[in-house]
Amino acid sequence: MPKVEIASESCKSCGYCVRFCPKEVLSVGERVNSKGYEYVVPRNIDACVACKMCAVMCPEAAIEIYK
Ligand code: SF4
Ligand code: SF4
Repeated sequence: MPKVEIASESCKSCGYCVRFCPKEVLSVGERVNSKGYEYVVPRNIDACVACKMCAVMCPEAAIEIYK
């Protein structure tokens, strides 16, 4: 199963990864990082197909995908 690693401290909560994930794996969480942004969490990791779209779209390079 793929693994999605999100560097919560780098996330700016822009939502690009959430919008562009074809499988609706990601969503903005309720917890905030030290900069006050609600960072993204993988809510539905079982659906991830490791396409890396989220990682490519992230302007902060906060996402790593491992197959
Ligand atoms: S790798 Fe693809 S399927 Fe997995 S979370 Fe990222 S965009 Fe969604
Ligand atoms: S694209 Fe990057 S910075 Fe934007 S919400 Fe997703 S993880 Fe956070």
